[in-house]
Amino acid sequence: SDSVNGVVKPRILLMGLRRSGKSSIQKVVFHKMSPSETLFLESTNKICREDVSSSSFVSFQIWDFPGQIDFFDPTFDYEMIFRGTGALIFVIDSQDDYVEALSRLHLTVTRAYKVNPDISFEVFIHKVDGLSDDHKIEKQRDIHKRTNTDLTDAGLEQIHLSFYLTSIYDHSIFEAFSKVVQKLIPQLPTLENLLNIFISNSGIEKAFLFDVGSKIYIATDSSPVDMQTYELCCDMIDVVIDISCIYGMSNTEAGLPHDKDSMAIIHLNNTTVIYLKEVTKFLAMVCFLRKESFARKGLIDYNFHCFKKAIQEVFDVRVKVQQSRKLLNQR
Ligand code: GDP
Repeated sequence: SDSVNGVVKPRILLMGLRRSGKSSIQKVVFHKMSPSETLFLESTNKICREDVSSSSFVSFQIWDFPGQIDFFDPTFDYEMIFRGTGALIFVIDSQDDYVEALSRLHLTVTRAYKVNPDISFEVFIHKVDGLSDDHKIEKQRDIHKRTNTDLTDAGLEQIHLSFYLTSIYDHSIFEAFSKVVQKLIPQLPTLENLLNIFISNSGIEKAFLFDVGSKIYIATDSSPVDMQTYELCCDMIDVVIDISCIYGMSNTEAGLPHDKDSMAIIHLNNTTVIYLKEVTKFLAMVCFLRKESFARKGLIDYNFHCFKKAIQEVFDVRVKVQQSRKLLNQR
């Protein structure tokens, strides 16, 4: 699997019918394209569009289903691909008739499950920006019911699908991706625990660990997430990246305009401070705290230093375990 600086990247497959919105999702989430620009994306005729993002914690690939290409094509080693996949996201265009999409979804899920039962299956009911709230829930219920009936009829009710209502025109697509990625991180409970300890010792209200390249949060402390806070984090990351791109270092090792020592502070007029600090090349912590607590920045920075060391150990251990497993397999 892919690994960067000792961190193993979760691998995600994005599938769905042509025009369901896969390229748009990829461009908006991983390449900072604005949603309205996706209107002009060109359709490609390739089955598989490889895109292992080099500037993100997550690696992933897109698969299209134009017409009838299918799993019987011998030049297409789907088994190998499913074996290396952590999550399979299937995108359904909710503004279109979804009968064909659902039969594709069923075929894909049952195939993939046979090769790799550990894949997490995620269904994005996409383009819901045009729908009222009632309508959204109705669609989700209908799709959920039909897919489960199909699986039960095939004797495969043990396959679990998760559903998300998404749109590239708001933060729902980032939220959904965050949840998908979090499932693939075995260290999630440890990360949450470390974040809990960090915030309670530092007088911080809320902390997120973000993949800067995609604005996906891979972990947060156990207090509830409210959408507004999450959106503020996303906005802050955008500002930091924009400023870094314009005025930041240009020839860092990874070609990123920020590095492991980058940080930013924003004071909001309602006495809240947002504090961003890089944890690794890809990950940054974003914290929300009161002005009073920020007076003890020295303490926060010291606790952050401890947190960072702990995080590095968490990921190092995992790589070492994987390496020794590989060695054992070779015997
Ligand atoms: P792909 O063939 O699956 O890669 O689909 P594209 O990414 O090319 O998207 C097809 C069309 O759907 C484009 O015109 C996009 O602008 C549009 N689209 C993608 N996502 C959304 C969304 O969340 N809401 C709406 N309204 N349109 C979307």
